[in-house]
Amino acid sequence: MKIQIKNYIREVPNWPQKGVNFKDITPLLADKKAFKTAIDELARPFLNKRIDKVVGIDARGFILAAALAYKLKIGLAIVRKKGKLPWKTISKNYKLEYASNTIEMHKDAIKKGERVAVVDDVLATGGTMSATCEMIEKLGGKIIGIGFLIKLDFLRGDKKLKKFAIHSLINY
Ligand code: AMP
Repeated sequence: MKIQIKNYIREVPNWPQKGVNFKDITPLLADKKAFKTAIDELARPFLNKRIDKVVGIDARGFILAAALAYKLKIGLAIVRKKGKLPWKTISKNYKLEYASNTIEMHKDAIKKGERVAVVDDVLATGGTMSATCEMIEKLGGKIIGIGFLIKLDFLRGDKKLKKFAIHSLINY
């Protein structure tokens, strides 16, 4: 029987703040079948395409992106929160509901012309992913597709990512 990966997402109401229904992916990561199915499904849209690198977003995105890069037999680049990367970086600031955030990449994380798949756990408002895509394109990368485990449809994050192919496994 095919496994339903949605059953392995734990919803935690009002965390980390009131009004947020947090999608906790740790039960999925802990289950060997659910984790394997999730990575296989994330990989599916990229299997018949030439992709040079997977980009993962701090922090839960790293877990998925690393497994995906291994499956696709390609390298991995990481997008981190400000101040964590040791070498020369490019950065992008973007607005959150009540604050702003800055993310960074190493300047040599993507080579000009590289074909990239970008991965994160959750698409919410799309701010994090669109800032990430801007940095990748600034470095000369070509975004072939964007993968999420979970897409929160009601937040319309896809509006910020109109020019990209979005793939998601679970929708709320
Ligand atoms: P956004 O930039 O609004 O699309 O937010 C996406 C980032 O915030 C992702 O890296 C997610 O890990 C995290 N995130 C946002 N909303 C949730 C949620 N409801 N549950 C879990 N993670 C979330």
